[in-house]
Amino acid sequence: MTGSLAGSDLEADIRRIGGELAAAFPSPARNPVKALDAKAMDYASQDDELRAALFRFVDVVPACRSLDDLAAHLASFLDEVDERPQPLDVAMRMADGRAGRKALGAAAAAGVRHMAHRFIVAETPQGAERVVRELWRHGVATSVDLLGEATVTSAEADRYAARCSEALEALSAIYARQPERPALERDALGPLPRANLSVKVSALTPLLKPDAPELGKRDAAGRLRELLRLAKRVGAHLHIDMESLDSREAIAELVLELLAEEEFRDGPSAGMVLQAYLRDSPELLDRILEWAGATPRSHPLVVRLVKGAYWDHEIVEARQHGWTTPVFDVKADCDRNFEQLTVRLLEARPLLRPAIASHNLRSVAHAIAANRRLGADDRDVELQVLRGLGDDLQHALSTKGFRVRTYCPVGDLVAGMAYLVRRLLENTSNESFLHAQAEGVPLDVLLAAP
Ligand SMILES: Cc1cc2nc3c(=O)[nH]c(=O)nc-3n(C[C@H](O)[C@H](O)[C@H](O)COP(=O)(O)OP(=O)(O)OC[C@H]3O[C@@H](n4cnc5c(N)ncnc54)[C@H](O)[C@@H]3O)c2cc1C
Repeated sequence: MTGSLAGSDLEADIRRIGGELAAAFPSPARNPVKALDAKAMDYASQDDELRAALFRFVDVVPACRSLDDLAAHLASFLDEVDERPQPLDVAMRMADGRAGRKALGAAAAAGVRHMAHRFIVAETPQGAERVVRELWRHGVATSVDLLGEATVTSAEADRYAARCSEALEALSAIYARQPERPALERDALGPLPRANLSVKVSALTPLLKPDAPELGKRDAAGRLRELLRLAKRVGAHLHIDMESLDSREAIAELVLELLAEEEFRDGPSAGMVLQAYLRDSPELLDRILEWAGATPRSHPLVVRLVKGAYWDHEIVEARQHGWTTPVFDVKADCDRNFEQLTVRLLEARPLLRPAIASHNLRSVAHAIAANRRLGADDRDVELQVLRGLGDDLQHALSTKGFRVRTYCPVGDLVAGMAYLVRRLLENTSNESFLHAQAEGVPLDVLLAAP
């Protein structure tokens, strides 16, 4: 960390800000449905075998044709678990008879659907209007994400690109009807678009393969260029998500090359993602800074800092190939890197616009404290959370007047399954901040320096 920002004063600020935010969290009693979910999450986190079985089950739900089918799958997955919590044992006995199986299947389907609706706001961007409007009313901006994982054919990529275009139009129309919210619409660097869409490059091309990155880049560039043109026309922001490491180089190059094209110098507002769990993330930031210095744009590039959603995948992939792991394997190392990158991003203004995306109160309080110590206004750093995981933090941040943006997935349950599994894995991992918080770990431990 840079000199003036290190030390005990900063730590004292972090504890104070973290304490104020924690006090602004809604009380659990306000939302009994979420308390119920927390119980389900709790079961899943207690037992690795059970967790694995439930994840495999959630994976096959979309392929089930009937409730009977669903119950049979649930029974067979749970059969592999030696010690089941008591309610599951009761459920297993129910699954023995046909009537019981039907009831169990219905309950399981309802449970999965209920869980999915916590994370996925609607099936279409138009359907998301109510949620988007309510959030805006409460001082919260959004980034809408159209669910759909890796694309296999060009037709699928065209369809995803067409859905993105429709979403840009629909979101612009929805936001044009909303009242002014000056706090969400401007920072020290200028105006911030209301409509904001996050896209995945792996859904924009079937050719994104680690062994032929140029091919994937070229194929995706055509579709992404059209989306950038449309975003510029309707005044929306386009954000390009980051995925697993095997596509990282191609995606970073694609974004930086396209945004350097002459026609995009004066818009649209656009952004990319930096993943702090990658050991070489500081070097990627060096490259982004160099690019930003050489590529003046009317809307500075937004860099969303995250820890990274593919940690287990990267570990397995590296082990299978006998590579050293590209991600930190000690959580505290990842968290420290996140804080160092936070400071570098805050210091990089006005070349870049930082967006700090985390549900970890320590990481967020650190970003706020560091921003204040650098003499910047609270509104000059964006804080981002995921719908469903970050709702309480979002409430606390918006109540306290911070600029917060919630990432809102839109799509059907089948397309949402991979997303849902990743969020469940994240939420029930022992290393997760949210898990520690739900377990009742004291605030001063949660806010301690990593
Ligand atoms: C608005 C928003 C947008 C996002 N967009 C993206 C995106 O484009 N691409 C993407 O990859 N992710 C994205 N994410 C997901 C993000 O990466 C996860 O939410 C995040 O990793 C959880 O981190 P946390 O700070 O909330 O929680 P924490 O509990 O503090 O951190 C959990 C994270 O720490 C890391 N970790 C876990 N165990 C270890 C270990 N043993 N050693 C080292 N590190 C470990 C993992 O990254 C894990 O996800 C986004 C998140 C948000 C809020």
